[in-house]
Amino acid sequence: MIIEESEAKFKFCPLLKTADDKMKMCQTTMCMMWRWADDEKEKGYCGLAGTAVQGAK
Ligand code: SF4
Repeated sequence: MIIEESEAKFKFCPLLKTADDKMKMCQTTMCMMWRWADDEKEKGYCGLAGTAVQGAK
C-alpha cells in the first residue's frame, strides 16, 4: 500500500503494541522499515511485507 506519510500515521502497525496490548499506529519515518516510493518523498510504504507494487491502491 503506497500512501502519504500523513495517512500512514493512521494505519495500524502489525508489530507494535501498547503495554496493555492494543495496536499502535505506524511510526512512518521513525521506523527502519519505512520505505519511500518516490524520489520526492511524497509517498511511501511499510517495507515489512516486501516491495510494494506500484499502482496498487
Ligand atoms: S513502517 Fe514500521 S511502524 Fe510502520 S507499519 Fe511498518 S513496521 Fe510498523
